[in-house]
Amino acid sequence: MSDSFHTRAPWQTPKADNQNSNTTIYLPHFASTRQALEHLDTNDSVNVLFPEVLKHYASEFVNGFPGDVLYAVKANPHPYVLNTLWKAGVHSYDVASLREVELVADLLPQAKLFMMHPVKSRKTIKRSYDLGVREFAFDDVSELYKIKEELPDAKDLSLHLRLSLPSEDAVYSLEGKFGASFEQAGDLIRKARTIAKAVGVTFHVGSQCMEPAAYRRALALLSDVLNTENLILDSVDVGGGYPVNYPGMEAPDLGQYFDVIASALQEYGFENHLILGEPGRALVAEGGACLVRVEMRRGNELYLNDGTYGALFDAGSPKWRFPVSLITDDGRDTVGNLEAFSFWGPTCDAIDYMEGPFLLPADVKEGDWIEVGNLGAYGQTMATKFNGFFAEHTITVDEEPIVWRGPIGSVISN
Ligand SMILES: *Cc1c(COP(=O)(O)O)cnc(C)c1O
Repeated sequence: MSDSFHTRAPWQTPKADNQNSNTTIYLPHFASTRQALEHLDTNDSVNVLFPEVLKHYASEFVNGFPGDVLYAVKANPHPYVLNTLWKAGVHSYDVASLREVELVADLLPQAKLFMMHPVKSRKTIKRSYDLGVREFAFDDVSELYKIKEELPDAKDLSLHLRLSLPSEDAVYSLEGKFGASFEQAGDLIRKARTIAKAVGVTFHVGSQCMEPAAYRRALALLSDVLNTENLILDSVDVGGGYPVNYPGMEAPDLGQYFDVIASALQEYGFENHLILGEPGRALVAEGGACLVRVEMRRGNELYLNDGTYGALFDAGSPKWRFPVSLITDDGRDTVGNLEAFSFWGPTCDAIDYMEGPFLLPADVKEGDWIEVGNLGAYGQTMATKFNGFFAEHTITVDEEPIVWRGPIGSVISN
């Protein structure tokens, strides 16, 4: 039953019958998380994927986003996820490392890959091109020279200038690390034109962006620069950042983001451009969970078999609260009200602590399991094997994830 895709890094998966995009990837499949736990009898935490939820969000984006959807592979590179999204109509992928390129090119040979890391090694540029990548990001003239030197004969490049934005509306700001300023844009776009067939811009408003208007503001800034500099682009990539509901963080509907983006594209004259978007979190977060077991209860602190070195990095120092639901060890009906708990992870490191509060029935006890939701993005993909604790199983489950079983606020919020 061990999931070979997770015990190895996903890019080490053996070549299967993947000559076409109809590869089927089989994972252990169960009706419910409780049934899975009874059957697996595992000592470790368990990663769960919800195929129907992955399909649901894939079609939300494919049908609702006013442009082409590029899945940001880093959010969850599991081959099952990639394959499910492909079958649901997501055919372009935002990749940032050579291993991500190789993984997707191998699994989905017909996928269109966008190498959107603005700072790449020379080998990554060359090998990505050899594997069929024609779309590359850059944010500096030195990267343009690098691309030109590595691909001197390429006549079919599309280059995407990464612009830096003030990301005041995002919970995770991406400001500061990558991106050219709007003042540099004109010069860089003109230089890129000399080596590329098509030139566009890309930006990222920051992850878990709670304010649809952030995309409009970015497009307004872009439009100003293009008018001032008298420039025309081939494409505009509005990046990722679409949010997901977490306890204490209620996000606007995806549809509001799509509406704001569509109307801003029209207002600022981009309707005839190729429009791209790079959702990661919102496409896959609700499609995954982690099942963790309570090894000890000390007051309202629970010691678990997964933590910040596992799937729960964001519950650590970023202090995110995730939706949680109890799966009692003995099938008992829980009694009492929900109470606030904090978690300790299994490693010997004291920073392996998750403050929460996580609201669980008052009678939670050792041996019980907890389903921690919304971990399809930036969950299992961030897990290490530190101290010998890691999930060996990734399974699929028919049952709905906890955030679909009831309004998140009625079960979880304080
Ligand atoms: C991480 C990332 C994304 C995905 O962001 P989400 O907030 O998960 O939607 C998209 N584009 C780039 C360049 C990224 O680095």
